[in-house]
Amino acid sequence: MFRVCSLQLAKALVLAEIAEGKIAPASLSAITAAAKVGPVTALAAGKNAKAAADILAKTKGVEEVLLVDGAQYDNGLAENFAPLIQSAIAKNGYTHVFAGTSAFGKNIIPRSAAKQNAMPISEITEVKDENTFVRQQYAGNAVTTVKSSDKVKFCTVRGTSFERAATEGGNGKVVEFAPAEASSKARFVEDKISKSDKVDLTTAATVITGGRGIKNKENFKILEDLAAPLGAGIGATRAVVDAGYAPNEMQVGQTGKTVAPNFYLAFGVSGAIQHVAGMKDSKVIAVVNTDEEAPFFQIADYGIVEDLFKVAPALTEKVKANK
Ligand SMILES: Cc1cc2nc3c(=O)[nH]c(=O)nc-3n(C[C@H](O)[C@H](O)[C@H](O)COP(=O)(O)OP(=O)(O)OC[C@H]3O[C@@H](n4cnc5c(N)ncnc54)[C@H](O)[C@@H]3O)c2cc1C
Repeated sequence: MFRVCSLQLAKALVLAEIAEGKIAPASLSAITAAAKVGPVTALAAGKNAKAAADILAKTKGVEEVLLVDGAQYDNGLAENFAPLIQSAIAKNGYTHVFAGTSAFGKNIIPRSAAKQNAMPISEITEVKDENTFVRQQYAGNAVTTVKSSDKVKFCTVRGTSFERAATEGGNGKVVEFAPAEASSKARFVEDKISKSDKVDLTTAATVITGGRGIKNKENFKILEDLAAPLGAGIGATRAVVDAGYAPNEMQVGQTGKTVAPNFYLAFGVSGAIQHVAGMKDSKVIAVVNTDEEAPFFQIADYGIVEDLFKVAPALTEKVKANK
């Protein structure tokens, strides 16, 4: 007896986000997710993308790299990427297109999906099979399993839910692919990158976050003093960002960054659901708050009901003494 089965084999394309020749960690997580559905091709597009393409070729799980030479791809303009992805699908028959859940992926994936008349699936946390994906909604308070019948599935991937593929040990081949025509509708004007010598928030093993209890911008120094010997990243709540105490890129939560460090230590944060949505997968959570009724204590592994201005400097002393 023969069983009827689908003739179309899954073939995944992963959009690599390249900044200053480096592959973004979110793209490496997207490669791990994509490898669960079938052979992975990585797309390396940009003016000097050859070096990045070579790194991708050595990345575990990547079988092929499409190298596209064109300055129009340097700043992640979706208007330029969407036609390129369309042409790659038309030529090579990809069944899945994945990207990390970053500004880059969130910008390009829905536009490319619309061009294929497909429904984008955002921020997947699990791949059940080639048609079935898990994601969260209602600020992480419901877990949804979705099944897609679209011919090509377009997904952004939650970086903290998949291991990053190792950038060595792979043996993919680099193939040149023709750029699509540049769009006349959008043009890159300028970038204002905030210079920081701080530890990257999304990849830090320890994250120390300040909420409104920190009271002003200057007081963040207290958290920086504690973060330095721990090599920790520093986060902030939206209330703090809105008040101008911290820049936007430090925001953790539903509308900020998603982090899942080994240790998340929050000072003066109430634990609103929109904040918790961005950090509740952290392995160990500790909270310092003067209000014992603060919702954050409900999900904390460790909690101290105390003034943060007493606790943070005392902890810094302890950490330094143990160094
Ligand atoms: C659509 C939407 C999206 C949102 N997205 C986000 C998001 O991405 N990230 C985010 O963080 N928020 C987000 N918010 C906002 C969120 O709802 C909360 O308003 C915000 O998280 C509260 O920040 P907070 O905990 O710093 O401030 P508060 O809620 O004011 O809490 C401050 C806490 O500090 C404590 N405190 C005060 N003084 C001290 C002291 N000396 N020592 C110790 N503790 C002290 C207080 O007891 C209090 O619990 C969003 C809201 C909406 C509506």
